[in-house]
Amino acid sequence: MKCFVLKWYITDMIEVKKIKLLPVNVANKIAAGEVVDRPASVVKELVENSFDAGATQIDVDIVAGGRRLISVRDNGSGMDRDNALMSIEKQATSKINDIEDIERICTMGFRGEALAAVASVSRFRLQTCLEGQIEGTELVINGGQLVDVQVVGCPNGTTIDIRDLFYNLPARKKFMRTAQTEQNHIRSCFFLQALAHYQIGMGLRVDGKNIYRLPSGCALQDRVHDLFGVEYMINLKAIEFEYKTINISGFVGLPTCSRPDRSEQFVFINHRPASASIINIGVQDGYKGLMRSDRRPILFLYIDMPPEQVDVNVHPAKKEVRFHFPDMVKNAISEAIRNTFSNKVELNAKSDDDPFATFKPQLPKDTYSQLDIGSFDNSKKSSIYPKREINLEQSVGPVEEEQKEVDVLESTVEGSPWKWCRYVGKIDNFYGIFELEDGYFIMNPRASHERILYEQYLKAIDNNKIETQKLLIPETVAMNFKEAERIRTSMDFLNAHGFGITEFDGNTFMVDELPAFFANTSPDEILRELSLEIEISSSRNAKTAISKEFVAKAVCYGAVRNDDNLSEAEMKSLVDNLAKTSMPYTSPSGKPTIIFHSLKELNRKFFRK
Ligand code: ADP
Ligand code: MG
Repeated sequence: MKCFVLKWYITDMIEVKKIKLLPVNVANKIAAGEVVDRPASVVKELVENSFDAGATQIDVDIVAGGRRLISVRDNGSGMDRDNALMSIEKQATSKINDIEDIERICTMGFRGEALAAVASVSRFRLQTCLEGQIEGTELVINGGQLVDVQVVGCPNGTTIDIRDLFYNLPARKKFMRTAQTEQNHIRSCFFLQALAHYQIGMGLRVDGKNIYRLPSGCALQDRVHDLFGVEYMINLKAIEFEYKTINISGFVGLPTCSRPDRSEQFVFINHRPASASIINIGVQDGYKGLMRSDRRPILFLYIDMPPEQVDVNVHPAKKEVRFHFPDMVKNAISEAIRNTFSNKVELNAKSDDDPFATFKPQLPKDTYSQLDIGSFDNSKKSSIYPKREINLEQSVGPVEEEQKEVDVLESTVEGSPWKWCRYVGKIDNFYGIFELEDGYFIMNPRASHERILYEQYLKAIDNNKIETQKLLIPETVAMNFKEAERIRTSMDFLNAHGFGITEFDGNTFMVDELPAFFANTSPDEILRELSLEIEISSSRNAKTAISKEFVAKAVCYGAVRNDDNLSEAEMKSLVDNLAKTSMPYTSPSGKPTIIFHSLKELNRKFFRK
């Protein structure tokens, strides 16, 4: 994996540069903006400074969501006394000299704002020691007032402790959310930085507890493994591609493993977490024909390019970037992805008439076996599904007379859509056909099962009779930080409704009990499904708490699948249970469960009577 930009600036930053005040004209040209608005942004700025100082180990310690303490320690270059004093001045930076430098910025920071801003709104302590020295400098600043400067013995590198953020700005302080919320923001920020600089050792302690201890010098694969768990890698394919001045590396998700949103897409430009709509377009182009257009792939995309071709100065927090050659970036991304999933042998068969022949998606043979047909366009279906053989002789064979009697299912429930019905058979090895008094209906087994499970679970919750099942061996589920955040916010609720979930470590949870409804599903799958329902629930209700309806919806995950090949008895039992539900016509998410056709309509169509 190449990271020439990173190497370049690390070696450049290790030699101690003198910090100077920026000339006013330069300072004004830098997009102004508050760099510090909450504890997480302080963490981000400090960690970025540590990267810029060439640190190979960065340890973050927070207490009470960073409201009480944020401490960042690194083993980077450190500063001498003069530079340390200069670093806390407004618009003091060692990273740029003139406006041209902004055009080719290689470091994470460059505005010279962060330390001054943080020191003016907190109780701030900086300890720093140059490499090879035994004595360092300590500065203490309270609310922007320098109260102490002294010589101290401290390790090489820099430690910055920030206590009582916004203590002197009551209005600002009020805007901080609960410690838990701020902590979640910090975790997200740390997580992103740990991916952006996967070669650097990073630690996170929250309220004295080690949340992450990520080793230094590792490959991206190891970092992804540490952050997401062992099984995550199975769904990823390495990507490595060079296109003109752009180098793309990292991992991209298999088309079979799609997601409903972009929460598992991590894109870094010159090792800076970044977003730009042109990147999304490139990704979508790359997956065209491989993934439904409303689904999103998993991505760990590292785009390295000459710094002067990308403008990081658009956004004060430097998240959004602008490219000087956006089409080039888009094409590089889409080609990189297509190339990753294409059959290398086919690549040589490029025809001259078709300039894009090389880039047509050609799935390697072994990928087919893993494909989830559901995530494909219907147009692809015919080429993947095996042709079924229909034995006509059998289907027109004699019908046994008594069978009708046995097959008739009488409904005893009030409000049932039918008095009786008779199982006729299956269509597409999936839909059930049932005859009834004045016509027939087609049943979607999955939608029907979802309805049944949903109502049974709601009823169990209301009657306080949730049957639970202890897992023989508790299972740990490693999630990404977004999924984990959602589970954390709803953990109490879930645990009161049949789940046994405890926080284990980082974004990993331990599951030792499940509602019996979920008995056949893996805790891993169900937690992810719940996380998704929580997301949907909170975006609809604008509150974080999950309602029982949404937990119940996750139960649907355990419903029969398209390829379950149900037996006649199972079909009958579904219809029977469906009749007992209060809303037998649709699934909880609104899909039809049964579609009626009347005999009258049929007769009319066949001009019968
Ligand atoms: P910027 O990062 O935009 O230059 P900051 O206010 O974040 O501005 O930092 C000011 C200066 O202080 C930096 O340019 C750098 O020279 C120095 N500095 C800050 N943090 C560290 C650190 N952890 N190690 C070494 N030097 C640092
Ligand atoms: Mg900085």
